[in-house]
Amino acid sequence: MADTIHDSRLDAAHSVLQDVFGYSTFRPGQAEVIAAVLDGRDCIAVMPTGAGKSLTFQIPARVMGGTVLVISPLISLMKDQVDALLALGFRATSINSAIDFEERRRRLAELRRGELELVYLAPEALDGSLREFVRGCPLSLLVVDEAHCISQWGHDFRPSYRRLEGLCEELDVPVLALTATATRPVARDIVRQLGMVKPAGYKGSFFRSNLRVRVRKKGQGGNTRAEMLALVREHQGESGIIYCLSRKAVEQTCDFLCTQGVRALPYHAGLPDEERVRNQDAFARDDCDVVVATIAFGMGIDKSNVRFVIHRDMPKDIESWYQEIGRAGRDGLPSDCWLFYSWADAKMHERFLDGIPDPAVRNGRWRATVSLFDQLEKNHCRHSMILRYFDEELDACGASCDVCTGETIESIAAAAAAAGRVSRTRTRTRRTVIGDDASIVDVELFERLRTLRKRLADEAGVPAYIVFSDATLKAIAEMRPASEADLLSVPGVGPAKLERYGGAFLAELAG
Ligand code: ADP
Ligand code: MG
Ligand code: ZN
Repeated sequence: MADTIHDSRLDAAHSVLQDVFGYSTFRPGQAEVIAAVLDGRDCIAVMPTGAGKSLTFQIPARVMGGTVLVISPLISLMKDQVDALLALGFRATSINSAIDFEERRRRLAELRRGELELVYLAPEALDGSLREFVRGCPLSLLVVDEAHCISQWGHDFRPSYRRLEGLCEELDVPVLALTATATRPVARDIVRQLGMVKPAGYKGSFFRSNLRVRVRKKGQGGNTRAEMLALVREHQGESGIIYCLSRKAVEQTCDFLCTQGVRALPYHAGLPDEERVRNQDAFARDDCDVVVATIAFGMGIDKSNVRFVIHRDMPKDIESWYQEIGRAGRDGLPSDCWLFYSWADAKMHERFLDGIPDPAVRNGRWRATVSLFDQLEKNHCRHSMILRYFDEELDACGASCDVCTGETIESIAAAAAAAGRVSRTRTRTRRTVIGDDASIVDVELFERLRTLRKRLADEAGVPAYIVFSDATLKAIAEMRPASEADLLSVPGVGPAKLERYGGAFLAELAG
């Protein structure tokens, strides 16, 4: 797709990648999708979480004239993306129910005058007069993020997404649909419902080699709670999510971790809205380390430095498992995914199905649950098992799952507990920085940079990873840049961030 005709435009795209985002190379698929967009074609990109889908429209937004309109399902997601774009020097905003009337009028006027590169909208916002209004604005592209939300075949159908039907035709601009849901019926549904015309398509590999997947059957002499605690301590001070099947399990697990000194907060649908929002915010801002949650916690998480996901109970099917562990390691750094399962968990899922009236749907769901259980029992490479579900072949991951490496949750937890006992007399219990044993990072320097990042983020009122990702922070600690030019060569540092934060980081490095 990236043919010669548009090489010069791709050159411009590459310059934005380097000069604005501070990255040297495109990730797989990014150049192909950007080329299709710059060609003015409709395009559907199916790429896993963390693949870097946002850049496929954010870069064109800088290269093309006119405004890119981005439909995104959650206000919290939107806010984080807009904050991240503003930190990079983009002209971006969102229009949603959380802003007051005057502010909304101001933003709409900017949109009308073509002053914005990107505008984020919730699908609900397209009710009523706004739909008519955007038709009169100078738009270049319509982006439907999390596009699987339009499909009832997907795992996260949102009725509000149905409002997007016919929108492409009305607006008369190309559409880019983005999703991490890889099943064919969902992709077909997206193309049909959005009314996409001869779309270009890109499907990336769903293999996430940076996720170290380990699985443990419950009730075989192990103590799940103690093992979970040991695993959490392995990642002391880092962000993680623990998924439980019931609200009660969430509360109990969270209370237990808190009594053990872990900075954990609960999240489930039974909590008051404001508490849920507060807890999610605390997590985004690194004010708490661990969120213990039901699957109600998920889509709003655009946090790139989640270092581990623990399933205290078995997920409902392979697709859900993949989506849930996909919230770890979006920055590409090694991250741990630990799954505890039992037949009792499967039976619990069966009880949740009681509310479904259609027997065919109910049976289908139950079969999917049993299938996950059966495959976990088989002890095949975990990654190849997941990928087979997405029609992708992989013999064995070789290095990223318990079956391939022989390193079990049991052995890791035992080693961690032993190390914990030894190090109680020392000041520091952390083994390595952000889990990558292969690289040597000065732990003390990294912690100082983290503290600085947190301070700058709090001052700006944004989550820490919007200042710099963990990957970038780690690269700074490794490379120890001494000048602005050095700092600019670190992946993830572009001119905008250099100007904003460069002085503070260089001073910290020199001090
Ligand atoms: P997705 O929407 O596909 O889940 P994101 O767009 O949120 O993924 O990107 C995930 C992370 O990858 C972000 O931290 C982003 O800055 C980073 N990223 C994206 N493209 C590149 C690239 N070409 N090089 C390095 N990092 C990248
Ligand atoms: Mg995304
Ligand atoms: Zn494997």
